Amino acid sequence: MSSASNFSFELAPPRTPEAAAKLPSVVSQLAVLGPKFFSVTHGAGGSNQGGTYETLLTVVDNCGIEVAPHLTCVGSTRANIAAHLQRYRNAGVKRIVALRGDLPATAMSASAPGEFHYANELVTFIRETHGDHFVVEVAAYPEMHPQAVNPTADFVNFCRKVKAGADSAITQLFYNADAYFCFVDRCTKAGVTIPIVPGIMPITGFANIMRFCNGCGADLPRWIRLRLEELEDDKPGLQEFGADVVTRLCETLLRGGAPGLHFYTINQVAPTMRLWKNLSLPVPA
Ligand SMILES: Cc1cc2nc3c(=O)[nH]c(=O)nc-3n(C[C@H](O)[C@H](O)[C@H](O)COP(=O)(O)OP(=O)(O)OC[C@H]3O[C@@H](n4cnc5c(N)ncnc54)[C@H](O)[C@@H]3O)c2cc1C
Repeated sequence: MSSASNFSFELAPPRTPEAAAKLPSVVSQLAVLGPKFFSVTHGAGGSNQGGTYETLLTVVDNCGIEVAPHLTCVGSTRANIAAHLQRYRNAGVKRIVALRGDLPATAMSASAPGEFHYANELVTFIRETHGDHFVVEVAAYPEMHPQAVNPTADFVNFCRKVKAGADSAITQLFYNADAYFCFVDRCTKAGVTIPIVPGIMPITGFANIMRFCNGCGADLPRWIRLRLEELEDDKPGLQEFGADVVTRLCETLLRGGAPGLHFYTINQVAPTMRLWKNLSLPVPA
């Protein structure tokens, strides 16, 4: 279908002993698909920050695939970020997903508290302190970051991250392919040539997809929302419909030139595996 090669899987640090016990098997099963890398999320602003490093080690121990920790800078200090970077470098990490992180609910201003205010400052810091050692991934928002003043201001801010040294971008989840294509066109016109990899959230339930979309400001088209609501009590039916919708989205994106896909796996094997099969993506021998 496409010569795309930027396929990656996102994991989150497990929050229960049961989830932690399951993680090695999740990693091993997803590794069979041969992603370019796994990424591991990192809590923002002091809450839920544990576990990124340990999850990273689980990936290292269970497959030979590259792993990229997310690093959020909101509420942090230069010393703290420097310590994280050194620890990751010592563990053999060569790729970082550099983020501001969500502001605390009590935030009084759009600018993050702490020594870093926006992700572009974190990218600059990584380049200043580690040169080209890390491949730096940043976040992109085809439907605009929810706190941005307007789409143009948000796009200018995205370009700041690229200028600061980002190598590649992963988008927020979205269900309107045109939003992605429009964003990429805008990049091309502005001379931004780094890969913009769509972030893909499988649809597996009505309540959770509403929560994800509301949380990040993503638009869930009315026809999808209504059908999911209708299928809420029919799990297999909902999952089949969700997989069809997301498969079509991925096909459209890849056909239109997307350089790959980043799957938000939420530490589940089946939904990502199903999409992979539907898309006839290759499985290494
Ligand atoms: C692929 C991906 C992975 C993610 N992983 C995590 C994770 O692991 N942990 C987590 O907590 N969150 C994660 N998030 C969510 C992310 O942290 C939030 O969306 C956060 O609110 C913004 O982070 P950012 O790096 O995009 O911030 P920024 O790029 O700093 O942008 C944040 C806001 O500030 C504005 N802005 C940016 N720079 C400037 C500037 N110089 N001056 C004025 N305004 C500016 C932007 O327009 C935007 O509205 C992820 C998001 C994506 C897309």
